[in-house]
Amino acid sequence: MSSTPDTPAWIRHRAAELNRNCGPCSLCCRVFTITKPASIAHPRDVWCRFAEPGGVGCRQYRRRPKVCREFACQWLFDGDFASYWNPSESKMVIRRANYPTDADPMTTILHVDPDFAGIWREPPWYPDLCERIGRGERVWIVERGQHYELVQVGPEFQAAMQALAKLVDAEIAASLAPSAEAAEAKTPPAIS
Ligand code: SF4
Ligand code: SF4
Repeated sequence: MSSTPDTPAWIRHRAAELNRNCGPCSLCCRVFTITKPASIAHPRDVWCRFAEPGGVGCRQYRRRPKVCREFACQWLFDGDFASYWNPSESKMVIRRANYPTDADPMTTILHVDPDFAGIWREPPWYPDLCERIGRGERVWIVERGQHYELVQVGPEFQAAMQALAKLVDAEIAASLAPSAEAAEAKTPPAIS
């Protein structure tokens, strides 16, 4: 999918200003569930049967359906997302929305390539997401059939989680340590 004459003019204009285009990317032909038209229907995380990522992109580019011609991911036309958000590099397709009303905070939704699950935890993306949350935005991850919202936790929560992890480690270590009885039973008999 890409910015074409069917894409709203302002989106094409912004994409041109930013000098951005789809290039070899076709990740949006994989990460969404498409039910209509039937000719390209596919579940989330399954490539559309016409997709040729890294190659021509779409094998029916000139005849691709309206839903494809009209779609443009957020990175393509939004300078608020730096170049490292290019889906070819980030392995994430961005959508933005105010949910559920315009009065609610701006929400960034990341649809992650299932082959790169968890990539959003890495720099430069993770610090970027933290900054967005810090300024009041919401961030949702859609990944391998799961949806979750990223939240920032305070230092008290982090300290409590570290203490809990130490407790669990200590319990595991204790359960694995051989008892004195077992150690004795394993002592080989003396040979005279
Ligand atoms: S995810 Fe964005 S950059 Fe990639 S093909 Fe779709 S619209 Fe183009
Ligand atoms: S028809 Fe082409 S543009 Fe549309 S989802 Fe399939 S591969 Fe992508």
